[in-house]
Amino acid sequence: MADWDYDLFVIGGGSGGVRAARIAAGHGARVALAEADRYGGTCVIRGCVPKKLLVYASRFATDFADSAGFGWSFENSPHFDWPTLIAAKDREIARLEGLYQNTLRNAGVTLFSEHATLTGPHAVRLDKSGQEIRAERILVATGGTPFIDPDLEGAEHVITSNEAFHLERQPERIVIVGGGYIAVEFAGIFAGLGTETTLVYRGDKILRGFDEDLRDALMEAYQARGIRILTGHTIPRVDATAEGKRVHLDNGTVLDADIVMYATGRVPNVKGLGLAALGIEEGWNGHIVVDDEFRSSVPSIYAVGDVTDKPQLTPVAIRDGHAFADRVFGGMTRDIDYEMVPTAVFSTPEIGTVGLPEHLAAERAHALDVYVSRFRPMRVTLAGREERTMMKLIVDRESQRVIGCHVFGPDAAEMVQMAAIAMRMEATKADFDRTMPLHPSAAEELVTMRTKRPDPPA
Ligand code: FAD
Ligand code: NDP
Repeated sequence: MADWDYDLFVIGGGSGGVRAARIAAGHGARVALAEADRYGGTCVIRGCVPKKLLVYASRFATDFADSAGFGWSFENSPHFDWPTLIAAKDREIARLEGLYQNTLRNAGVTLFSEHATLTGPHAVRLDKSGQEIRAERILVATGGTPFIDPDLEGAEHVITSNEAFHLERQPERIVIVGGGYIAVEFAGIFAGLGTETTLVYRGDKILRGFDEDLRDALMEAYQARGIRILTGHTIPRVDATAEGKRVHLDNGTVLDADIVMYATGRVPNVKGLGLAALGIEEGWNGHIVVDDEFRSSVPSIYAVGDVTDKPQLTPVAIRDGHAFADRVFGGMTRDIDYEMVPTAVFSTPEIGTVGLPEHLAAERAHALDVYVSRFRPMRVTLAGREERTMMKLIVDRESQRVIGCHVFGPDAAEMVQMAAIAMRMEATKADFDRTMPLHPSAAEELVTMRTKRPDPPA
């Protein structure tokens, strides 16, 4: 038998790597893990978790305003302090990072807090200490990193979500570029906290790929909340000025801001990893190509998470990491359903969605029954706001299975997680209808929608 230092060496201590290391160690494997930055990875340190904390912070302004309709008044108007929020968020992230490290150590995983490079099919170099380690198997779980168009002139003047979490001062004016998850979520955060927010998107409607009714509902709500959305624009140049930054749009318009944030997608984190020297096959976006067993084109090297071509979501990275470890070290197989992945955009109001958007369902040649409901949720009536909640069910006409569920409104993420269980179990519209509503709630609308939307003209 070869003389390996470890049975498994994991590169990357984020969502996928931590789960894989812990589960493999639990199956009795000798496991080591290298993390170049902070344990917990994108989700815990600069993604889902700090983002959601900022989302919570950003929603209080509406809560304070709404409370007046319910009889509340304040002696002084509420005041928000950005440094206090950032410090509180940082303490929570440090606590979680500690938990991640403890979990790994308690599982018996050896930790190397440094950057690692692949040097052979079974070999890794630790770049700070210079140590060479030999392992029977290597798992690459190095995640992703923000992408900025290399042709952008003045890219040094813009930030990404990585830096947005650490701004010393709250910007008075921000320009956010992009129309996907991160751009939309951060626009909601900054606007909610009182920053004058402009979103610049190259397409005609934000959140490409999502159901059209969700996209329309969010655009309308954001504009009503004072977020300026400029569509159909590219940005050739960003300058630094005495006052801040100046964004030049393709039509000659300029936008002045304190901060310009790019959220134009993320690419696999493979720079300096040594993939090419080993002949590891990379895909269209630089991701590591893997088979159903997470194996790359070099059989002893595996990959999970954002460094592969899977949906860039934490639960997917975790499931893949878990399945890899169970399969390789526990002799178990696990099926992962990448079709029915629930996902939320933590805008305010938020979006929750699972299954197919209407346009994709139709493209797959399904005849559809579509149910759409728009209503003012009870809370906003006394608050005197006009904001509407929208719920939509896409039903396959032949089988009557619910194949898409899209919710726009408060707590959409929470609702859609529950609906996803029913849909995974192949629930039909009649199953939804038979379910007793929970009253008064917004979610009850999901089981009381009776009127089909008329079919579009053939
Ligand atoms: P990561 O978590 O990125 O971990 C990779 C780790 O590898 C990093 O810690 C990195 O430092 C380390 N590393 C890289 N190269 C090396 C090397 N050579 N040597 C040693 N270490 C290395 N997903 C959701 O499901 N819900 C959300 O609400 C959500 N919000 C997000 C918000 C933001 C702003 C961002 C950016 C992402 C968000 N995501 C969200 C996506 C989610 O964070 C990622 O899908 C997930 O973290 C991917 O996990 P991973 O294990 O593949 O990689
Ligand atoms: P997305 O892929 O969601 O969106 C990228 C946006 O940038 C799109 O609007 C895209 O436009 C635009 N874009 C891409 N390239 C350019 C360019 N060269 N110039 C101008 N605009 C460009 O990426 P994000 O960065 O928002 O987030 C990365 C991933 O992280 C998400 O896809 C998601 O998987 C994950 N994430 C998940 C969250 C959640 O679960 N709540 C929250 C945050 C991130 P177009 O539509 O025209 O292609």
